[in-house]
Amino acid sequence: MSEDSTRRIDRSQMHISTEVAIDIRNMNKWYGSFHVLRDIDLTVHRGERIVIAGPSGSGKSTLIRCINRLEEHQSGHIVVDGIELTNDIKNIDKVRSEVGMVFQHFNLFPHLTVLENCTLAPIWVRKQPRRQAEETAMHFLTKVKIPEQAHKYPGQLSGGQQQRVAIARSLCMQPRIMLFDEPTSALDPEMIKEVLDTMIELAEDGMTMICVTHEMGFAQAVANRVIFMDQGQIVEQNEPREFFNNPQSERTKLFLSQIL
Ligand code: ADP
Ligand code: MG
Repeated sequence: MSEDSTRRIDRSQMHISTEVAIDIRNMNKWYGSFHVLRDIDLTVHRGERIVIAGPSGSGKSTLIRCINRLEEHQSGHIVVDGIELTNDIKNIDKVRSEVGMVFQHFNLFPHLTVLENCTLAPIWVRKQPRRQAEETAMHFLTKVKIPEQAHKYPGQLSGGQQQRVAIARSLCMQPRIMLFDEPTSALDPEMIKEVLDTMIELAEDGMTMICVTHEMGFAQAVANRVIFMDQGQIVEQNEPREFFNNPQSERTKLFLSQIL
């Protein structure tokens, strides 16, 4: 466990609002005949930092992909910032503009510079003037501590730098919620810390975050809630100290014994 790799943060400064950011009720999803998500109930308040853990194949990616409609659910309700996710494309666009997503593989455009990666959507989707989009991009590239890389291409950057570009690119769309799907899993150990530190700063800024990660040190330092999934269900959830020290279900105990 890489607890040492993440610095402690002052949780007392991190405000969780009573306002609901994401509300998922009795949600089910199938891939063909495979029942991948079962009766998911999850309410996330603004300012929460949630870590989702669980074995490979348990449905973690599918769940967070449903939140910005990269995947469609078949029953139940998903409401994001008060907008219910249905087939209405207007609602989907609106939700996607509120929700940023960062993937394991950074998914940067290799033929565009770092700056162009960051300004593409603001210019073409948000119709921002180029100057303004570039100013915003430089602000967020500075925030993730790589302003000097702005004119390089992704292939010229380390994995950790590329992932920080991906985070900056998301932030340029001014999301109110950030979803992370194993953002450090493809990185060499020495680069994991720089990405986790960026995520910690986002948390300190009050961003509502859902992170699928195996970094249990990060979970302990940053999360206010850890959710354990297995076989398409939320098996258990608790604040980190209780989750790690006093797991309730046998499945959680087994999982923790394997990763800690
Ligand atoms: P996790 O992120 O927890 O590893 P996933 O959400 O990626 O799990 O996958 C959950 C299950 O759904 C796995 O059994 C996986 O093989 C299956 N699955 C994922 N994506 C698809 C897909 N597009 N079509 C069919 N099955 C899928
Ligand atoms: Mg996954």
